[in-house]
Amino acid sequence: MSEESVKVAVRVRPFNQREKDRNAKLIIQMNGKSTFITDPRLSIDEQKQFSFDYSYWSHDGFVEHPSGIYQAKDSVSCYASQQKVFDDLGRDVLKNAFDGFNCSLFAYGQTGSGKSYSMIGYGVNRGIVPIACDELFQQIQHKKDSTINFEVALSMLEVYNEQVRDLLTKEFPKGGLAVRQHPTSGHFYPQGLRIVPVGSYVDIEHRINEGTENRTIAATNMNITSSRAHTIVTIYFNQIIKNDLGETKKTSVINLVDLAGSERISNTGVTGDRLKESTNINRSLSALGNVISALVDISSGVKRKIVVPYRDSILTKLLQNALGGNSKTIMIAALSPADINYDETLSTLRFADRVKRIKNVAVINENPTE
Ligand code: ADP
Ligand code: MG
Repeated sequence: MSEESVKVAVRVRPFNQREKDRNAKLIIQMNGKSTFITDPRLSIDEQKQFSFDYSYWSHDGFVEHPSGIYQAKDSVSCYASQQKVFDDLGRDVLKNAFDGFNCSLFAYGQTGSGKSYSMIGYGVNRGIVPIACDELFQQIQHKKDSTINFEVALSMLEVYNEQVRDLLTKEFPKGGLAVRQHPTSGHFYPQGLRIVPVGSYVDIEHRINEGTENRTIAATNMNITSSRAHTIVTIYFNQIIKNDLGETKKTSVINLVDLAGSERISNTGVTGDRLKESTNINRSLSALGNVISALVDISSGVKRKIVVPYRDSILTKLLQNALGGNSKTIMIAALSPADINYDETLSTLRFADRVKRIKNVAVINENPTE
């Protein structure tokens, strides 16, 4: 058993075109584990300081390698590349998976702040998820022998408007997949979700691309942007270990979660389906906030016997294990560097600051096979 806090990383991206066009000013500074934010309306002496397990500076100091990969310009530049982020966070996830712990990695931040860049990446600038899957299969190749067998499977879903859509199929039953509670473990799961076995990195890559494509098609049909949905890629990793006494099975469930944009959606002038939609979107993220507050109270000893309101939204039901359960959990909070996003960035930093106070108790999942 191992009790530890949720690890939190923040990462600040370069200015985007819109920010450049508007002559945006840089309001984020980092130094070691500390991140500073300056309110553009106040003087720099009044900046606020936060401290996280990792503060990643990906704002400047990089060049594009001929291969297209962004890397640090020189030895003095502090640009944190995709590889650096993987080396710190992704390797930990893999190690924990091989040790038989459940792991969760989730990305939080406003739309356009860099969540998908860090998680999935774009083109050759692959994010943590693809690099981790690649590495997983390399390690399996390396470790495979007559005493150990490996099984890897994958599911991919999105939660949109309090409905679960299986992204590994084009079918979409009305109302989405039902979320049920397992009678013995108490865990919530989407009924009928496809869990497909995968035998190689190429297999996984192919499935994730298929899921991403289904997601885009669905979003276009419903006339929404995909930033309104939460995407959860889950990897089921089993190790079947043979010894003189028989067989044991070590299992690890790895949840990789790209959350919907955290920005407040205004309900002004919105009616009908759009109103229902925006209320539901606000609902799952505010439910997430409430779950986190309850867990922080428990972890800090303020309150011991409180009911954590996991049941308040689909997202929090599905993330029950990742938050306050049997899981080693990491969060990446993605930050815009620009003054025009001050309010949202500050609220992301505050959210991240609360999350780092949650303590989870993870256990190794290892049992004799039947
Ligand atoms: P989100 O998923 O939070 O909506 P994205 O990950 O799509 O945001 O990022 C928005 C844009 O910013 C993309 O064009 C992406 O390439 C760019 N970007 C984000 N993070 C970085 C980074 N660390 N380095 C370089 N470009 C980035
Ligand atoms: Mg995104």
